[in-house]
Amino acid sequence: MGIIEKDIIIIGAGPSGLVCAIEAAKQNLDLLVLEKGLLVNSIYNFPTNMTFFSTSEVLEIGNIPFISHSDKPSRKEALEYYRRVSTAYNLDIRYRQTVKSVEKKHFKFEIKTQDQTYHCQYVIVATGYYDTPNLLKVNGEDLPKVKHYYDDAHPYIGQNVAVVGAANSACDVALETYYKGAHVTMVIKDDSIYEKVKYWIKPNIENRIKEGSIKAIFKSQIKEIYSDRILVDTPDGEQEIANDYVLAMTGYRPDYKFLKHIGITLDPEDHVPVFDEQTLESNIKQLYIAGVILAGDNTSKLFIENTRHHGKQIITDIKQKISANYA
Ligand SMILES: Cc1cc2nc3c(=O)[nH]c(=O)nc-3n(C[C@H](O)[C@H](O)[C@H](O)COP(=O)(O)OP(=O)(O)OC[C@H]3O[C@@H](n4cnc5c(N)ncnc54)[C@H](O)[C@@H]3O)c2cc1C
Repeated sequence: MGIIEKDIIIIGAGPSGLVCAIEAAKQNLDLLVLEKGLLVNSIYNFPTNMTFFSTSEVLEIGNIPFISHSDKPSRKEALEYYRRVSTAYNLDIRYRQTVKSVEKKHFKFEIKTQDQTYHCQYVIVATGYYDTPNLLKVNGEDLPKVKHYYDDAHPYIGQNVAVVGAANSACDVALETYYKGAHVTMVIKDDSIYEKVKYWIKPNIENRIKEGSIKAIFKSQIKEIYSDRILVDTPDGEQEIANDYVLAMTGYRPDYKFLKHIGITLDPEDHVPVFDEQTLESNIKQLYIAGVILAGDNTSKLFIENTRHHGKQIITDIKQKISANYA
């Protein structure tokens, strides 16, 4: 196929990419979304039974009401909602298009995926963080029993499971697997459950730990993983614990290698990209950043709720630039 030309190309069909696409569509701009996986790929890969911590109202985009059965929607409801949003706006999304490079050539950007070249005037990068887990960086992490993504509890019934971490996802996973019959040990590097764990989860996990139904080893870290056990560094010395699965719920981070590769400058300390607060334009003229990647390492600071306005900010600036070019 020949080169595909568009005014605006958005990389990523998560909530942020969709918001940008909707705003561009509202302005009758010629847009295309390139997505390496599926529509809202990250949400699709969230735990099967997860419930959002936000109410459905604050996850709404494009002025389309999000109706859920209880105050906080489930993953399944969110998938249905974002599917309806994308069809309502008839967005042009090309799936299975993994962006490998973005290069400015003369006055245009050239974007290459695994099998196609695209040209455009404006690029919006909205690639999220869910594809790059924070690794434990210990021997044995590459064993198949170590998971950085949790799906559902069934595989862990009756097994010795180590859950690493103490934030929302780790607490959710520890509780869900325990209630389904796993023998759960939490390995936590600090001396308590993370203080900002949601108020409806925190007392539950703390009480399960107190009564001993979920074991927790605080101020500890996994040192090595073997097929049948783990070696844990604890304040009382090294401990060997029988183990069938390690569920490393240690968070995710944007793909910094990709961002640097396309020329975005990142802060050397916290990897926050260089961007204009008002327009979200990066250090590269006419290349914008949307969504959670703007937070760098501080991924818990930005989420769907507080990034829904990014699309408007970016498209307002693009519209002004286009008008200035025609003036
Ligand atoms: C378990 C969990 C629960 C959460 N609950 C809430 C909540 O209750 N409320 C809330 O507001 N937020 C919540 N969040 C956070 C929220 O999911 C994220 O903030 C949101 O998904 C970020 O949207 P995004 O569009 O920036 O990134 P993403 O949703 O991650 O979308 C990025 C997209 O880009 C695609 N992509 C990546 N690289 C490429 C490439 N090279 N080429 C093409 N496509 C690419 C990905 O496949 C993906 O579809 C939760 C997160 C988790 C993990």
